[in-house]
Amino acid sequence: QKMRSKIVAGNWKMNKNSAETEALLTELAAKLPDTQAEVMVAPTFVNLQSAVKQLESSTIEVIAQNMHFGESGAYTGEISADMLLDIGIDTVIIGHSERRAYFGETDEILAKKVKTALKKNMRVMFCFGEELDDRKSENHFNVVETQLKNALFSLDASAWTSIILAYEPVWAIGTGETASPEQAQEMHAFIRKTITDAYDTSIATNVSILYGGSVKPANAEEIFSKPDVDGGLIGGASLVADDFVAIIEAI
Ligand code: PEP
Repeated sequence: QKMRSKIVAGNWKMNKNSAETEALLTELAAKLPDTQAEVMVAPTFVNLQSAVKQLESSTIEVIAQNMHFGESGAYTGEISADMLLDIGIDTVIIGHSERRAYFGETDEILAKKVKTALKKNMRVMFCFGEELDDRKSENHFNVVETQLKNALFSLDASAWTSIILAYEPVWAIGTGETASPEQAQEMHAFIRKTITDAYDTSIATNVSILYGGSVKPANAEEIFSKPDVDGGLIGGASLVADDFVAIIEAI
């Protein structure tokens, strides 16, 4: 039985120009600790190709922050799976809360993106998570279950080896407010149970579930110590090499 992998991924969002990207990657590659975890970084699209070249001999994987569901054609301003694959990128973040909130990405659109990425043999890091109002009204489990169901649960069982999940409560992203390690563990266990019900235990056991939302060096170790938390998707703290390295060391 395959054990799920530990993963620490940095989502750089719309930050770092080309020189800054090169500098941060140089520092990261130099300071990268010895780790069993997969380490990933997601620079902006315009810097992906140079990042891939720069990290050619590093174990750090360059991934994309988004992609379009279409294969090619009249989608001005968009990036296809084939374009990513062509420059050596085979993992893509889909469904980040900022894409959902600011760019109108619905569960239906995300389901299409996931389907296209998997058809192209890419790995998908699928993000989801409830908003503050959902948690206040104790609706967070329902919301998460629906997000998973709408985007992922019509996939064949075999597709799940290419899925990484990132639970990111929206109220904890970029706010400095973190879910407590107990809240993260509770939700991650719920996610595994939901996948067990929809598929089976082996899929639920083997999928990596990352936590995201204001992870920093000071809280990473405690969050990562929870049995169902397999790592983190890191925003703000991934932009500072020493912080990102400390978070990798915490896993
Ligand atoms: C994110 O955007 O995926 C994220 C977790 O951001 P932050 O770490 O800044 O909260």
